[in-house]
Parts: sequence; structure tokens; C-alpha cells
Amino acid sequence: MRIVVIGGIAAGMSAAAKAQRLNKEASLTVYEKTDIVSWGACGLPYYVGDFYSSPTDMIARPIEKFIESGLDIKIKHEVIEIDTENKKLKVKNLETGDIFEDFYDKLMLATGANAIIPPIKNVKSENVFTLKEYNDGIELKEEMMKDENQNIVIVGAGYIGLEVAEAAKHLGKKDIKIIQLGDRVLLESFDKEITDVIEEEIVSHEGVTLHLQEVVEEIIENNGKVIGVKTNKAEYKADIVVISTGIRPNTSFLKNTGIEMLPNGAIIIDNTGETNIKGIYAAGDCATVPHLVRHENVYIPLATTANKIGRIVGENLAGMNSVFQGTLGSAAVKVMDIQAGRTGISEEEAKKIGIDYKTVFIKDKNQTNYYPGREDIYVKLIYDAKSRVILGGQIAGKKGAVLRVDVLATAIFAKLTVDQLGMLDLCYAPPFSRTWDVLNVAGNVAK
Ligand SMILES: Cc1cc2nc3c(=O)[nH]c(=O)nc-3n(C[C@H](O)[C@H](O)[C@H](O)COP(=O)(O)OP(=O)(O)OC[C@H]3O[C@@H](n4cnc5c(N)ncnc54)[C@H](O)[C@@H]3O)c2cc1C
Repeated sequence: MRIVVIGGIAAGMSAAAKAQRLNKEASLTVYEKTDIVSWGACGLPYYVGDFYSSPTDMIARPIEKFIESGLDIKIKHEVIEIDTENKKLKVKNLETGDIFEDFYDKLMLATGANAIIPPIKNVKSENVFTLKEYNDGIELKEEMMKDENQNIVIVGAGYIGLEVAEAAKHLGKKDIKIIQLGDRVLLESFDKEITDVIEEEIVSHEGVTLHLQEVVEEIIENNGKVIGVKTNKAEYKADIVVISTGIRPNTSFLKNTGIEMLPNGAIIIDNTGETNIKGIYAAGDCATVPHLVRHENVYIPLATTANKIGRIVGENLAGMNSVFQGTLGSAAVKVMDIQAGRTGISEEEAKKIGIDYKTVFIKDKNQTNYYPGREDIYVKLIYDAKSRVILGGQIAGKKGAVLRVDVLATAIFAKLTVDQLGMLDLCYAPPFSRTWDVLNVAGNVAK
């Protein structure tokens, strides 16, 4: 049995390590085109913001450990073609330029995604960055740490854009502009009630401004280096521009293989991680994920699902028949002093799917009044209008917001109703909550 894994980060290494442990007889090779494996891009914004100083802290497990355990990892090797009929691969050794053939009985695609760069004039100028790869982080931090670079323009207000804003603020940058095409931040994940709270927090910080419904049309450069940006509304000074306008699956090399994909190039998988071609699996940012509430395959690229489906695929590569239980799209973000999390479906998603839903939105306090540090906390629930089963939830606040979202994820998974949430026996002590926690209150207020 020959197993080949393409891509050596979250999904690929989870699968390879699991398959190798479970099936010692199989011959298994991981091809990774960069020179690093098993690191977490989630740490990039905090490295850039100098919350910690060593980039190697992002590496979950050093390559030597995998090799010691007997795993065959070929770094600086790019798979350039797959012949699904004859189960063959073409691989390019990026150091020597040599191209050779390999074969597989079972194949895993874990090639991740790459940053989308919009067609902005002069976008290739010096000091225009994306934040996706390990080296992106190293290069961006080097420039961010320089005193002369005080004007930071961030294009795109999704998770990464906001995390970069936090990084720049942490470094004490004087002018941070976030430019967003849409009419609010995080518009694909959160509803307006919650993004209003996040936006209020962002603009309360001196030197940080939010420019909504604005489009960057041109990078203004001097001698090849960025000095400003021109939008459809104004011109701004810029020493550094960070483009965070989304990602696209790394699947263009799979054209004409017969592997089914969504229009954005995400490989469609079932709940075992298998594609439409038997013996070929995929997981992570290059693939879809089955959604527990939406009952369809969606593209929600997160480390959490990359690791989990990666492990399931590893078990299946080794001969088991494991099934992924589905995603809720649970995700969280911290911007300066505010934290927010979401799980299940948003109201926008409920509308699109055509579910008969209701919502409740409340503002409450995270804890008792007499214990120091009491803060506002905001909860939105989306629930089925008839059965009252919770379908989605979002929470924002300065303290205790995000981990409460995990309670909601569990409630949605267990198909609890808002009424059951209202009476759920949640922890209480004055520093953490109130006798009726904000989640109990939200459940009880739901009509
Ligand atoms: C700045 C940032 C912050 C993030 N924060 C969070 C967070 O807080 N929480 C969260 O859940 N997720 C977060 N994510 C997302 C998370 O990092 C990804 O979901 C996760 O890394 C996906 O893992 P993956 O293995 O699918 O893909 P990747 O990590 O992209 O790895 C794919 C690998 O495949 C290799 N490859 C591609 N094509 C080939 C080929 N043809 N041949 C050989 N090798 C190939 C690539 O070089 C790459 O190393 C963040 C991402 C970024 C960029």
C-alpha cells in the first residue's frame, strides 16, 4: 500500500502522522513545496505584532521529530500533476529542478490556499504584503518594527485584516487605516448587531480609522516602494500596505483530473474526507467541509477543521472508516480590547438558506457589579421559529465572550432549544458571571 500526502501543514501532517501510526506496513510520503512543515499560520499576526519574538514558536512539531518517527517527508518538492486514471504523480524537486514520477494507491490533497491579490495598480510595489506564508510574517514584521514606518493601510476587514490592525496597534503605530469594500467588518461571519460593537471598539482607539464601502484602486509608489494608496474616495499616506482580501484554494494543478470542486476551486469531500474519486481524499483550506446546520458542503477554511478532518482522513488512509461529524463554522477574533466569536449559522445565512428562524439580541454584563472589571457583553442567538432549536450564536465583549461561544457550539450540536439554554446549569461565581449568566438571559428573552 502506497500513500502519498501533498502538503505538510495542518491537514496534511495530521493525516500523515495518524496514518503512519495506524498502518505501519504502508509506505507513506509527504510532499511539501516549502522548506517547513507543521506550523500554524494563526500565530502570524501575533508574531508580526511582537506579542512573541521567535517565529519558530509557530512550529507545532519540528520536521526532525517526524523524520525520527519514520515519516518520509520531502520538503522543497512540488507535485505539479496528477494522473488519476493511472494513479501517478509528477513531482518537481525545487532545489535541483528535476522532475520525477511517483505513484499512489491512496492520495491525500492538503495543499491549502493562497492569498487573493485584487487587481490594484502597482500592487507588486515594495512594502505591500499579504499575510499567509511563514516568510510573509518574517518580512512584514521586519518592516513593521521600523520606526520610520508609521502609516499602515490594511485592505480588507476580515479576521486577518483586523488581527493585523491589532498587531500594528500593539507596535504603537501612529496611523492605522482599515479599508473595506463592504459596508461592515467581518461581514461573512457576523451579523450587524455584533459587527457594530466591534466597529465601535476599533474606532475608539486613537489613530485607528475604518473606511467602509471604499475600494483601493492604486498603490502610489516612489522608486518602486509604496508611499500611499488611492481609493475611490481619497488618497492616504502609507509606509506599509497589507492586503487581506481572502484566500483561494491551491487546486489549479488539479484541472482536468475529474476531481469535483466548488466554483472557487475548493475540492468537494464527503464526511469521510473522500473526493468523488475513490481513494483520493482532501482536507483543510483546499477543500470543503460538511456543515452540521446547513446540511451542505461549504468553504470555511479554518485550522480547527483542517486538523480534525486531517485526522479523520489519516484514519481512512490507514484503512478505517471514520466519519467527520460536521462543522459549525465556530470562529473567534480579538481586536484591541474586544473579543468576538460565532458558531452555527448567522442570520444572513438563515435568510439565504430560507429557514423559518427567529433571533434575539441582548446587551448584558459579563459578571457581578461588585467584583472589579465588569464589562458589557452582547449575545445574538438565531433559532428555529417552530422547534426553538438554536441554530447559531454570536457573542462580543471585553471579557468572557469567546469561550461562552463554545457553550453555544455544544448547545447547537446537542440540538438544545433556547428554553433549555435559559435554564442550563452554567457556572457562577462573582468574578466570572452572574447568577443568571448572559446565556441564560438570552435563552429566556427569546420569544
Ligand atoms: C494570518 C492567519 C491567521 C489565521 N488564524 C486562524 C485562527 O485564529 N483560527 C483558525 O482556526 N484558523 C486560522 N487561520 C487559518 C489556518 O491557518 C488554516 O486554516 C490552516 O493553516 C489550513 O491548513 P492546511 O493544512 O489546509 O493548509 P496550509 O496551512 O495552507 O498548508 C498547505 C501546504 O501545502 C503546500 N502545497 C501547496 N501546493 C503544493 C503542491 N502542489 N505540492 C507540494 N506542496 C504543496 C503549501 O506549501 C503549504 O505548506 C489563519 C490563517 C492565517 C493566514
